[in-house]
Amino acid sequence: MQLLGLHHITAMAADPSRNLAFYTRVLGLRFVKKSVNQDDPGTYHLYYGNHVGSPGTALTFFPQPSLRRGRPGHGQAYATAFSVPADALTFWQERLVRLKIDHLAAELRFNDQVLTVFDPDGLRLELVFTVETDSRPPAPSADVPAAHAIRGFHSSTIALAASKHLVAPKADAGGSDAAQLNPAATVALLTATMGYRLAAQAGHRSRYTVATGGPGAYVDILTDPGVPRGLDGAGTIHHVAFRVADDAAQCVAHTELTNIGAGVSPVIDRAYFKSIYYREPNGVLFEIATDQPGFTVDEPVETLGTRLSLPPRLEPHRAEIEAALPKLD
Ligand code: ZN
Repeated sequence: MQLLGLHHITAMAADPSRNLAFYTRVLGLRFVKKSVNQDDPGTYHLYYGNHVGSPGTALTFFPQPSLRRGRPGHGQAYATAFSVPADALTFWQERLVRLKIDHLAAELRFNDQVLTVFDPDGLRLELVFTVETDSRPPAPSADVPAAHAIRGFHSSTIALAASKHLVAPKADAGGSDAAQLNPAATVALLTATMGYRLAAQAGHRSRYTVATGGPGAYVDILTDPGVPRGLDGAGTIHHVAFRVADDAAQCVAHTELTNIGAGVSPVIDRAYFKSIYYREPNGVLFEIATDQPGFTVDEPVETLGTRLSLPPRLEPHRAEIEAALPKLD
């Protein structure tokens, strides 16, 4: 299959207004789509990205006010990294201190400085001050100058504790319940089926890349025994989506996943892209999504995210859905 890198990443949150404030005002992303979870229209689906929410820039959330807090850890997409220009480190360090945002001291990872930042639900984010070229345009922001702004995703880190017993858990066991995790099985899926190749390795971290590579393409496999077991809930990742150019490329991916018995879903129309879903061998939910049609399919680029967008089948129920959703401010 021909994957182009990361498409979007979806996470769980509790309070939607707190989530909106953090991603737009603190991180300086654009609120590109206010929609609902198509499988649960009583829950928002909020999307943050660059100016148009280009594939590879959109972090999305299902905020549920009563959701208990989870814990990022093994068996999950543990950390979500954004690409930021290398010379923006001081700007972000000062900004995070000034705004009293929970974060860790900078660390060197491969050739880049990395700041780990926690969102209000404890979601583990990373700002990777990359020395690599990243020409993707950032979202214009009143709070973050363009020279220092997030360019889009850098990588997703999947944490999988190394096990002495190399027996893959059942594919339907779910990320948090599997007794033993087998990183080799995930690496085999990435490299033999999904077209990823090893890019770098240091300590407990192996970095894989695909297509032309660079920020936005990377998947890191972390086998650090110091990381705790993940618990699903607010502040954890729900799934990681990878890009394909079009329906034809998605069809090829679907066939290849079917051929290896990956338990892949049928194609589902998500309005802004078409999606297929499958669990990798350690239970992390993966999605493959098309680049088209994108977030401007139902509202102009100038006003993205300003009104509640519903898929056509839910449009007749707009009044009830709007009345049931929590207020966003
Ligand atoms: Zn998705």
